[in-house]
Formats: sequence, structure tokens, C-alpha cells
Amino acid sequence: MSRRKSQNSVKLILQSKSINEGFARAAVAAFVAQLDPTIGEMADLKTAVSEAVTNCIVHAYGGESGEIYISCEYDASRKVTVRIKDKGVGIKNVSEARRPLFTTAPEAERSGMGFTIMESFCDKVSVKSKIGKGTAVTLVKQLKHIK
Ligand code: ATP
Ligand code: MG
Repeated sequence: MSRRKSQNSVKLILQSKSINEGFARAAVAAFVAQLDPTIGEMADLKTAVSEAVTNCIVHAYGGESGEIYISCEYDASRKVTVRIKDKGVGIKNVSEARRPLFTTAPEAERSGMGFTIMESFCDKVSVKSKIGKGTAVTLVKQLKHIK
């Protein structure tokens, strides 16, 4: 957070419960609404946040209790950065996990498209993970300039 010059930021800590996924989406949307984004930009960000938060609930904590840390910020150029972090199981091979259709939970009817969706709806997605320590996903979206 301190690396970039942010104009505004918020942080949230959520319990890893699927009921909180909608809250995370709505909270990020309410924060980003301050920038008056287009409906499309807003929908893209909400979808990407949902995928990342769902991954924390389903994979990182596997239905067990845990905390999800979300930080959102934007800068003067209207670049929005959302970081979704967990202290769950971690990802063994991040580049493999990011591949379309890769999933470790096919039996749970997961399609392995979460990271692909995040990538297609954001300008940049970075993933840092350590086995047994957790995962941090950073979503960056540059909003269009007004007028
Ligand atoms: P879908 O998102 O389509 O329901 P999925 O969650 O399996 O399926 P992705 O979101 O692309 O697909 O994630 C790919 C894989 O990366 C997951 O199956 C899981 O093994 C791993 N993964 C993703 N996020 C996390 C996380 N926060 N902690 C641990 N493992 C993760
Ligand atoms: Mg997923």
C-alpha cells in the first residue's frame, strides 16, 4: 500500500464465510463508486473481487474459519488497486493455478476459470503465495478518464 501514492484507501477484514462474498463485492463497489466509474468498469471489478474472495473461502480455508483481508485504493490517475489476502493453505504452483480450466476441486464443480476471469476483467493481476502461509491476489484496473 505504501509503495504507490494513493489518493484514498480502505481496509476490511472479513470472516471466511460465503455469506460475506456479497458484502465484499458491495463494499469494494461502494468505495470505487466515489470515482464515478462506468457501469461496465464497476461490473468488471465486482466480478473480479468475487472470484478472488470465493477462492479464499473455498480453497484457502476450505470451509474452515479464517480471515480475508481486503485493501482498496485509488490514485489521482484513477487507477484502482484491490488486494485480497488470506492466511490459508497457499498455492503450490501459481502459474499452473492461473491457467484456464486448472482446478484442484473438480468434484466441487469448480471450473478453474476464476483467475482467467480476474485477468480478463482487470488490467493486471498478480498473485503471491506460500504453501502453509497464504495467498495475496492484487487486482489493478485503470478507470477511464472522465471527459
Ligand atoms: P472456479 O473459480 O472457476 O470456480 P477454481 O476456483 O478452481 O474454479 P481458479 O479460481 O482459477 O479456479 O483457481 C485455480 C486454482 O488455484 C484452484 O483450484 C486452487 O487450487 C488454487 N487457488 C486459487 N486461489 C487460492 C487461494 N486463495 N488459496 C489456495 N489455493 C487457491
Ligand atoms: Mg475460483
